[in-house]
Amino acid sequence: MQHFIDVILPIPLAKLFTYSITNAESSFLKKGMRVSVPFGKSKIYTALVYNIHNDAPQVYEAKDIHQILDEKPIVTQIQLEHWQWISKYYMCTVGEVMRAALPSAFLLESETIISKNDNKTISDEELKDDEFLIYEALHHQSSLKIHDLSNILDKKNVLPVIKRLLDKEAILVEEEIYEKYRPKLVRYVKLNNKYTSEKELQILLDDLSRSPKQRQVVMTLFSISATTKKPVKISDLLIKSQTSSAIVKSLIDKNILEEYHIQVDRIQYSGEDNETSKKLNSYQEKALNEIIQSFENHNITLIHGVTSSGKTEIYVKLIEAILAEGKQVLYLLPEIALTTQLVSRLQNYFGEKVAVFHSKYSSNERVEVWNNMLNNSPKAQLIVGARSSVLLPFHNLGLVIIDEEHESSFKQFDPAPRYHARDTAIVLASLYKAKTLLGSATPSLETYYNAKQDKYGFVTLNKRYNEVLMPEIELVDIKDKHKRKRMKGHFSDRLIEEMSETLKEGHQIILFQNRRGFSPIVECNTCGHSPQCPNCDVSLTFHQYKDQLRCHYCGYNTVMLKACEACGGADLDSKGFGTEQVEEEVKGLFPDFNVARMDLDTTRGKYGYEKIITALEQGEIDILVGTQMLTKGLDFRNVKLVGVMNADNMLNFPDFRAHERSFQLMLQVSGRAGRTDKRGKVLIQTFNPYHKILQQVSTNDYIGMFNEQMDERHNYKYPPIFRLIKITLKHKDYNKVNMASDWLAKSLRQVFSTHVLGPESPPISRIRNLYHKNVLIKIPKNQSLIKTKEAIIKINNSFRNVQDFRAVRVILNVDNY
Ligand code: ADP
Ligand code: ZN
Repeated sequence: MQHFIDVILPIPLAKLFTYSITNAESSFLKKGMRVSVPFGKSKIYTALVYNIHNDAPQVYEAKDIHQILDEKPIVTQIQLEHWQWISKYYMCTVGEVMRAALPSAFLLESETIISKNDNKTISDEELKDDEFLIYEALHHQSSLKIHDLSNILDKKNVLPVIKRLLDKEAILVEEEIYEKYRPKLVRYVKLNNKYTSEKELQILLDDLSRSPKQRQVVMTLFSISATTKKPVKISDLLIKSQTSSAIVKSLIDKNILEEYHIQVDRIQYSGEDNETSKKLNSYQEKALNEIIQSFENHNITLIHGVTSSGKTEIYVKLIEAILAEGKQVLYLLPEIALTTQLVSRLQNYFGEKVAVFHSKYSSNERVEVWNNMLNNSPKAQLIVGARSSVLLPFHNLGLVIIDEEHESSFKQFDPAPRYHARDTAIVLASLYKAKTLLGSATPSLETYYNAKQDKYGFVTLNKRYNEVLMPEIELVDIKDKHKRKRMKGHFSDRLIEEMSETLKEGHQIILFQNRRGFSPIVECNTCGHSPQCPNCDVSLTFHQYKDQLRCHYCGYNTVMLKACEACGGADLDSKGFGTEQVEEEVKGLFPDFNVARMDLDTTRGKYGYEKIITALEQGEIDILVGTQMLTKGLDFRNVKLVGVMNADNMLNFPDFRAHERSFQLMLQVSGRAGRTDKRGKVLIQTFNPYHKILQQVSTNDYIGMFNEQMDERHNYKYPPIFRLIKITLKHKDYNKVNMASDWLAKSLRQVFSTHVLGPESPPISRIRNLYHKNVLIKIPKNQSLIKTKEAIIKINNSFRNVQDFRAVRVILNVDNY
């Protein structure tokens, strides 16, 4: 009988591919293992076994696989099921889901591999020292790479050694694909075995009396081993004996010390879970009980709890209960809220059980988390992670917590899979029959709507912990202030007053400046020209710090102009203002205080964000200027005043969620003020203080906002009343994109009639030299989503068959908001 496997390839192919396998392979292989397979003329891909069967493919001859890469599955059955759901729901290929899920280290590349030649016995005497080291290492590890050899021998050029070993037929060398993941090795030292006896040791110490530094190192090594009774790291020895690595090396060279390696996890928690969870107050206790009750008849429950009401402590109680049952918990957060602040809070309670997963981790670190989860290690029971952690291999998930549920960053926009982590996590939970708890102080309309429809359970908590009052919110009319000349730059007299007061009392200030649309643009005061990006349909933004003009879409940059490109005039003005400008102005207004800025530019790198937070916590910063990053669940004790520099641009942003989002943003930043005993104050500067949303923000009126926004969603047919699928077409030729999008919209209208909007040019219609056009499909609640998607796929297929449109890229985005 013939045997075949269907595999998922990490490329956007809609179908699974079939390969033939031998009898032996078929009894070894399991779903979820990786194989390498030939594809096309000369490519080799890592593929994942999806299915094992005996049916030869009809239209092509199945090729043989290249080799099997795993001894056991690295992806679980439930994961495969979950991926399938993502691919169907978000209209992408399973290969795209796989690529998003697997750490890139699981994908392979070619390199030289050295292994021991088992057909030949070599005695140690035949080998020179360096040859011996490698030969010895191969006894412990079945194969080594060039890179490993360099490490062992501590030199770059290892080819001569390889050659000598080859000549002696001690090793084999092959070109192979290998995993990029390298376990991290930590260097340890111990005393050479020959000094185990008292006598030898005494002789050694006597010998070393002439080199006190070396003696000191040996003595320190003793004392560390005696106290810790554990292997001693070279790094620890260096610190404790206050010596240089050269001295340790000389001891190793003299064979007095021996160096060895132990593989360790890159991400290690060395502290202890010494804290017991906090005793809840009566409001928290009540909310907790309501959640538990709600779970009796709702798999999904929303907790709407004001900022600083102590939601996290409630989550902790739930987590304790689930872990005690021996089940796993997924704690999902927006990327930016995954701070050391929160993680160490959780580690204090749950210690080693916490595994953290986010995009600033290296590929190797992610492999470790993945493997720990796959082996259901005790180190991966509470998984705290951002968006992509919903794609990890869980075992017995018991609870999913989605904090800051309203956050837009849970949605992935590019590349495919364009999934929403909240919704994807809910499906994940259902596959495990686990419960999901959504938490927010400002729930998204769709979630609140689901709760009101009794689709989700619903619990509220409207007291801040410790009865801290909600901050007082004041709207400042800057139109009026401008008229009365009461503005200094972008600061009203009220804001300056409150800032001076706060600083005098020794408290801290946060100033919020929305990023969107507020980048400073340069304009010529003579002819009105503003410099444009040569690749994208946008004005370049001015970065004062680097004296550059930059495109925020493609990264194009050039030095700031001295004169207008169009008319040559020298009078250039920068319009609009960004965080950088606010920072500059604050420094001018309050020269005696420390000002810092938190935005995308200042938080690059793994710990960029953390550094600023720590500085604020430790009181090194008096005034922090920042973007939306400031809104995410930070808990600062000493911040008393929050200033929103300008509310209008958020409100006017062209998007159907602009009002909802502005409400959420402003209430969330306000929540950063006065989190301990002092009542906080929030000043919102605006040209339009009578705007409904601002009124609702200032009275913390979520329900008012919800009801009014829902009316609009009804009237204008937007989510959560209607569903949306957005289709984007891209091509470098403007006319082609126009024709193609007209064709597509027309075909879609034949099926969906008035529920098709567009084609429209987006606000920025050309990015990286490609013109964009959007078509939006609105889907009423009573229309089958599955049938709708089938119809779209059919139309898209006919579109693909139009010769002229072949090169046009089509992007499907389900729930594109
Ligand atoms: P939220 O997540 O709702 O914004 P947090 O859980 O961060 O609120 O709680 C706000 C602050 O109150 C935190 O500093 C937290 O440590 C403290 N806190 C909350 N609940 C308790 C409790 N039961 N006992 C002691 N401190 C608490
Ligand atoms: Zn550009």
